[in-house]
Amino acid sequence: MPEGVRFRWLGVAGVEIRAQGCTLAIDPYLTRIPFRSLWFGRVRSSAELVARHLPQCDFVLLGHAHFDHILDAPALLRQTGALALGSANSCRLLSVCGVPPERIRQVNPGDRLELFDLGLPLAGERERGRGDGLRLEVYPVAPHSLPGFRPGPLAPHLRPPLRARDYRMDRVLAYLLEVGEQRLLFDLPEGRLPPGPIDVLFAPPLPGGRAQDDERLAAVLAALRPRLFVPIHWDDMWQPLAQPVRPLLAPTGKLWPPLARLDLAEFARTVRRLSPQTAVQTSVLIPERLREYDLAALLARSR
Ligand SMILES: [Zn+2]
Repeated sequence: MPEGVRFRWLGVAGVEIRAQGCTLAIDPYLTRIPFRSLWFGRVRSSAELVARHLPQCDFVLLGHAHFDHILDAPALLRQTGALALGSANSCRLLSVCGVPPERIRQVNPGDRLELFDLGLPLAGERERGRGDGLRLEVYPVAPHSLPGFRPGPLAPHLRPPLRARDYRMDRVLAYLLEVGEQRLLFDLPEGRLPPGPIDVLFAPPLPGGRAQDDERLAAVLAALRPRLFVPIHWDDMWQPLAQPVRPLLAPTGKLWPPLARLDLAEFARTVRRLSPQTAVQTSVLIPERLREYDLAALLARSR
């Protein structure tokens, strides 16, 4: 019997999935550069942290090209021989950072792939392909704009190590991964959503408490009917990995205080309140960073 799906939240938007004898890393980011590096100097990946926490990987899926999604990908690809999938900017950044072309594959919204067909880097060394395969579908996500980090083309002559702001996003991609019967969605697509129910949704917690946000969250829950919502990208990414997880400061939508640390327990309550009363009830897992979870056990418990 093939082993079930296991996952770890790596901090920020990073998730590791183990399924069908394969390991996938989605937006792995362990280096966690200090805040000042956002504006000053060059940024470098910690190959040591990557090797320690991600010793094995077959596929790296990149949601977009910002440094907090892609900075550690070249080290991971070098150390493991994995294959990376991402947007045009993500692919070019990997190439600029010395990743050979056969380790990079550009994907676009609408693409459907069977990951086992892409040529496994270590095929034959591990027992794989004996299960139902790993099907991937790519969806578009609305790009977000941060001050100083507007989406657009990359600068023409990039030479590593790059500046944080050289990691410019073009397309933002959401990935739907199907492992046998189980469907895992990474990030929230804009426009057409994949049909529900989704077994696990890994996405940033939408700031609740404001009517328009609640409306969007309710619409997402009604369309996707996720059985499990695992909020990610809610930790303060300027804290090094050695320090405990601290939620990030987010706008409250109120006059005072304008900013507050995200309240994950409140987010879980909001999801419960807004979940449609259907056969599929959404439960929320606030993940512990780097802890491994067994998906089947979580879903059985939430039933
Ligand atoms: Zn990010």
